Amino acid sequence: MARRSLVVGNWKMNGFKADGLALARALAGRMRHRGDARFEMALCPPFTLIAAVGDAIANSGIALGGQDCHPKPKGAHTGDVSAPMLKDLDCRFAIVGHSERRADHGETDALVKAKAEAALAAGLTAIVCIGEREAERDAGRTLQVVKTQLLGSLPKGAAPATTVVAYEPVWAIGTGRTPTTAEIGEVHALIRSELAQALGKTTAEGIRLLYGGSVKASNAKEIFAVDGVDGGLVGGASLDVDEFWAIAEACR
Ligand code: PEP
Repeated sequence: MARRSLVVGNWKMNGFKADGLALARALAGRMRHRGDARFEMALCPPFTLIAAVGDAIANSGIALGGQDCHPKPKGAHTGDVSAPMLKDLDCRFAIVGHSERRADHGETDALVKAKAEAALAAGLTAIVCIGEREAERDAGRTLQVVKTQLLGSLPKGAAPATTVVAYEPVWAIGTGRTPTTAEIGEVHALIRSELAQALGKTTAEGIRLLYGGSVKASNAKEIFAVDGVDGGLVGGASLDVDEFWAIAEACR
């Protein structure tokens, strides 16, 4: 099954109305102008900007996503946002299990799985993030850690339309450092083979696997050319129109 390239901008806790909307409008303009849709693009602004960014990218083909969601659909959870609320704002995606949430909020694989399942139940596609810390890589434990996180975080019902997996080595996020292409290829091959064992070969072949961690215009082509990499989850570089657009254009 052919997998369409996907590039996702994770704005993290960045963006006010003025700069966020200017960024969204500029990307929407380029996307509308482009005509063909060789790659798919999604923007995941902070919750405060989702509605306004949604308006700015209307009819551009750019999809919208949230950076997290609560496992429950509603209720007494002050400060949280549910997957149906994201759906209500026309989001297509919800990032779950980002390493910054795992670190800042103590999110476990079990919680990430519950969040991913909440996303699926709301009709969203979950972008499930996994990746090793530097000490784990140094100790030669990368594949074991990634496998454990993957199998522990994957939602029931994972399928090409409902689930994207993002491999993001924690030590590469926001640091300017990246694994070698061989290292990225090794981890993506492991993820694909574990997905095949868990879900069957056909389903596994259809699920998109993104790489994330210091993707820039200057390294995107090389990274996206790695076998099994279907695009990128991009943090810092997604805040710059030219940089993010060049990354998207580097998709296969
Ligand atoms: C991320 O936030 O998912 C990420 C990959 O960040 P950066 O691109 O800044 O490393």
